[in-house]
Amino acid sequence: MNLKITILAGDGIGPEVTHEAVSILKAVAEFGGHDFTFTEALLGGVAITAEGTPIPQKTIDICLASDAVLLGAVGDNKFNHLSPDKRPESGLLQIRQHLGGFANLRPCLAFAALAENSPLRPEVTKDVDILFVRELLGGLYFGGPRWWNKETGEAINTMRYTRDEVVRVARIAFQLAQKRRKKLTQVDKANVLEVSQLWRATVDEIAKEFPDVTVEHQLVDSMAIHLMNRPRDFDVVLTENLFGDILSDESGVISGSLGMLPSATIGGKVNLYEPVHGSAPDIAGQGKANPLGAILTAAMVLRHSGGLEREALAVEAAVAKVLAEGHRTGDIARGKDEITTTTQMGKLVHQALTETLDRHESMHAV
Ligand code: NAD
Repeated sequence: MNLKITILAGDGIGPEVTHEAVSILKAVAEFGGHDFTFTEALLGGVAITAEGTPIPQKTIDICLASDAVLLGAVGDNKFNHLSPDKRPESGLLQIRQHLGGFANLRPCLAFAALAENSPLRPEVTKDVDILFVRELLGGLYFGGPRWWNKETGEAINTMRYTRDEVVRVARIAFQLAQKRRKKLTQVDKANVLEVSQLWRATVDEIAKEFPDVTVEHQLVDSMAIHLMNRPRDFDVVLTENLFGDILSDESGVISGSLGMLPSATIGGKVNLYEPVHGSAPDIAGQGKANPLGAILTAAMVLRHSGGLEREALAVEAAVAKVLAEGHRTGDIARGKDEITTTTQMGKLVHQALTETLDRHESMHAV
């Protein structure tokens, strides 16, 4: 398997966590005889410092010529005085647009060893494995007209979707459900919104192409409660942009820390992979960052760009093993837990991964 991967390490803890994620990808390449090449490019505050813009043309060109883009995080307080379109974060918004992905995948995994970190009871979060598929390019965030008239005290945003926009993201969600537990929950507000009625009807239509997948519809308000009461019942959760934003953030409480959450945006020209967290300037450069979100993001690169499901599972198992052994960065530590640094955590996962891959290899040799 050949993969050209662009690394946009970015700002703050971005380079620290990305370093660990890349080392995991290199380990997988070495063991499997895969040819992964890594090209670094500048995005965000580091790009402003070096090139005077948060997104140099060279970065766009390198990203578009690759098979996958792995991003750390962007954002640096020293650029807060700049207008929003010149700040590091604008580089992120622009690269997302250039790559064109419309299906944002946010897995919500409950690691048994972190059960005590969630405010939910361990018996509620046990074995939770949800994949949110959020439509990313349409809906209220992009629809027009949009304005705020301060004179009249009136503001408007528009929730608009076309059938085609729903079809393309629904097909991706169904295909992913087929590879998982074959259940898809579509979330909307069809009792009030016409846009939701379009979503519901379109998803039912596409469901006929995937007879092996069970479909259910939930209203977003009750879904917010079900996610906290019975998260184990959900497999793939498909929804529009705003609802997906809120529900996937809500489900973050199940995993226990922002530093644990991976994401991928697929369906466009090149897939973009990024941990959910930001550049965390409060802990940057101190070895305190949790690299597991970035490492789990690397697992998504293997799964969705490399088609390497077994290797992706091996990375996830390595993370679970290290957590089960009690290793903790500060954000997931409790009470008297000894704190592990970013680099140590990365090395521990690397070691657990190579042991797993070694075991597989010797099993194949037998
Ligand atoms: P943040 O995610 O950077 O941090 C929120 C809190 O979580 C902080 O206390 C931080 O220390 C902690 N945290 C985050 N990731 C962690 C990790 N891996 N390990 C341990 N602790 C972790 O969000 P913020 O503080 O609101 O934003 C900081 C900067 O990041 C801002 O400039 C913001 O615009 C930017 N941002 C970027 C992205 C991105 O690049 N995708 C996402 C969100 C925020």
